[in-house]
Amino acid sequence: MKPCFDCGIQYSPWVMQFDHINPFQKKFTIADMINGSLEDLKKEISKCQVVCANCHAERTHKQRSSASEKMMQESEVHEWTT
Ligand SMILES: [Zn+2]
Repeated sequence: MKPCFDCGIQYSPWVMQFDHINPFQKKFTIADMINGSLEDLKKEISKCQVVCANCHAERTHKQRSSASEKMMQESEVHEWTT
């Protein structure tokens, strides 16, 4: 098992999560792949970055907060100009 892509710490395998680089490429989850072929599983994993649960939570939070930050900035500008 590779160490976390973001923090570089080697955790236990059950702490590690696959983060899809491009969510639109996501065909199925790794859990669904257990019944699939090993080649398909390897292909799917190659499209992912392995991150620990902590960093995965950070990534999810950043994605959400960057969206809400943009909205806040836009509303700030709106307040200043009115
Ligand atoms: Zn990490």
